[in-house]
Amino acid sequence: MYRLVSLLFVIHTCSSSPQLDLPPISSTQRNYGYGLLSSTQSINSPGNQYDRNFQYSTARPTAGPSTAGVYSVSSTPYSRINPDINNNGYPSVDGRVSSSTLRPYDDRSRDDRIDLNNDPNFRRNDPDFVRSDPRYTGSNPYDFNRGDTNTLDDRVNRVNLQQIRDFLLQADDQASKECTNNVAAQWNFETDVNDATQHAALDAQQRYTLFQRGLWEAAQQIPRGAIRDFATYRQLSLLSIIGPAALPPDQLDRYNRIINDMLAVYNTAEICAYNEPFKCGLHLQPELQFIMSHSRDWDELSHVWTEWRRNTGRRIRDLYEQLVDLTNQAARLNNFTDASAYWMFPYETTNMRQEVDEVWEQIKPLYDQLHAYVRRRLRESYGPERISRSAPMPAHILGDMWGQSWSGIVPFTLPYPGKNLVDVSPEMLNQGYTPLTMFQLAEEFFVSMNMTAMPPDFWSLSVLDNPPDRHVHCQPSAWDFCNRHDYRIKMCTHVDMKDLITAHHEMAHIEYFLAYRNQPKVFRDGANPGFHEAIGETIALSVASPRHLQTLGLVQRSVDDTAHDINYLFTQAMDKLAFLPFALVMDRWRWDVFTGDVRKEQYNCHWWRLREQYQGVKPPVLRSELDFDPGSKYHVPANIPYIR
Ligand SMILES: [Zn+2]
Repeated sequence: MYRLVSLLFVIHTCSSSPQLDLPPISSTQRNYGYGLLSSTQSINSPGNQYDRNFQYSTARPTAGPSTAGVYSVSSTPYSRINPDINNNGYPSVDGRVSSSTLRPYDDRSRDDRIDLNNDPNFRRNDPDFVRSDPRYTGSNPYDFNRGDTNTLDDRVNRVNLQQIRDFLLQADDQASKECTNNVAAQWNFETDVNDATQHAALDAQQRYTLFQRGLWEAAQQIPRGAIRDFATYRQLSLLSIIGPAALPPDQLDRYNRIINDMLAVYNTAEICAYNEPFKCGLHLQPELQFIMSHSRDWDELSHVWTEWRRNTGRRIRDLYEQLVDLTNQAARLNNFTDASAYWMFPYETTNMRQEVDEVWEQIKPLYDQLHAYVRRRLRESYGPERISRSAPMPAHILGDMWGQSWSGIVPFTLPYPGKNLVDVSPEMLNQGYTPLTMFQLAEEFFVSMNMTAMPPDFWSLSVLDNPPDRHVHCQPSAWDFCNRHDYRIKMCTHVDMKDLITAHHEMAHIEYFLAYRNQPKVFRDGANPGFHEAIGETIALSVASPRHLQTLGLVQRSVDDTAHDINYLFTQAMDKLAFLPFALVMDRWRWDVFTGDVRKEQYNCHWWRLREQYQGVKPPVLRSELDFDPGSKYHVPANIPYIR
């Protein structure tokens, strides 16, 4: 009987049955400087990780920590990078920047060695990688025995190649300076929030966007077809993609306005309390999130779930349709077929959808077990008339607004109640830990694995504590000032276990910055948008293991106990494993919308079809195409990719 009911349920999902939804970005997915006005930035060029070493030792202020690292934010116009079009479309040799004093880390001879055999970005194990770019006509760089270096044609190309490299050197130098300028302004704002720093940050961001657009226009004038050096080709290719900033000014303005309008709806949405129609003004943070994770009242949860969607997604449905058009237009100006191709481009694969699905198929058996276990426990709590043995789970009782992380319901689903998780916070306080010593401990951890110690600027310029005299945006983040010496963390650190792990996570970003700091600027970024966070999360898993905490002397008693282990692993799974199909749905849905496979009249139906297919959840109340449930999740109105 249940089976029949659930089958009917599945079949009718798109016409009438209720559907579910999931939560916000997990606490561990932190912004390390990406988010700023990201709508105008290239998907692979986040705001503040670029670099280079101009003004290294000589130009820096010599005063104490109060002024060191303070960059005056430039307001003079940048000099345009201007390839000499009369010179066959290549940059003028005369215009090149003398490099002898400017590039202590990355001098000309080094740059010349950015070739097929020495380029660390070169993917030796994947010959199809180069071949898969139809615009690259050079020889296969993996063929080390090719004998094609002596023709006249090649000698001509080599001259042009030198000119292009000169252009790239100049661009590299200027882009690094512009980046430093912008990052410094953003840092000044986020560590001292006031009107003046906010204006300066907005100005700097605008200036940087203009600069990037100028660079994009210049790079586009250089024909890449004849370039046979893969690293050079690759640099130009990356410079030729700037995302929405490629839109004509009026369209870009419209694009930004639509996002701002949608986010205004999202950020100001408020609802009234359940059964208290005069108690209104409840916002997502903190009230609604608290209810979703703490209330066990089915009807209250359903009320909050539904009202949040009525006041967010439903109100931006029309705007979102316009945004899809503009995002696709921008993608085409960057030479992609549509925005889904643009979003997938940083992963450098031709079959992203299939690869993602293949990975999911490997994980799914474990997810199915977690799902079945949680459904059984929820059935025990809410009763068999509300939770079917075989139907999808209702999305509103999973511990947060979107069902993305199930951590909120861990306390009453824990396999071994009473076997509490290891929490070293009291011991940290006992032992006199401070924010500073927590980061020193993190540094020791990396150095013990033969990784780099933090540079001096890190210790003198980071904000590791909440300063009493000014307002700081406390979201933890790691910053690359694009000059090869200045790397900082901003975090209002509390002395507790959660922040100890976060300190390691943030420092992992810095280690990654340091590892690629000698690359040309355009390469100084994660290998793909998922990589930076993956490194931090991997490190965090290791730090949080009971064994490691024992090694640090923060756990005295033995932690070799199966019940503890299961509880610990279960807790991890409720956050990380439950999250995966949600993240998958977020981008699967948008890929399908961008390609035009799913049109506006199917937006919500398709959303719930995917939610059921991947997550096995359904909405608690009836949904229709008047609703727009994807829009009740921040990243949809913000137009930020989720799989990363
Ligand atoms: Zn991070």
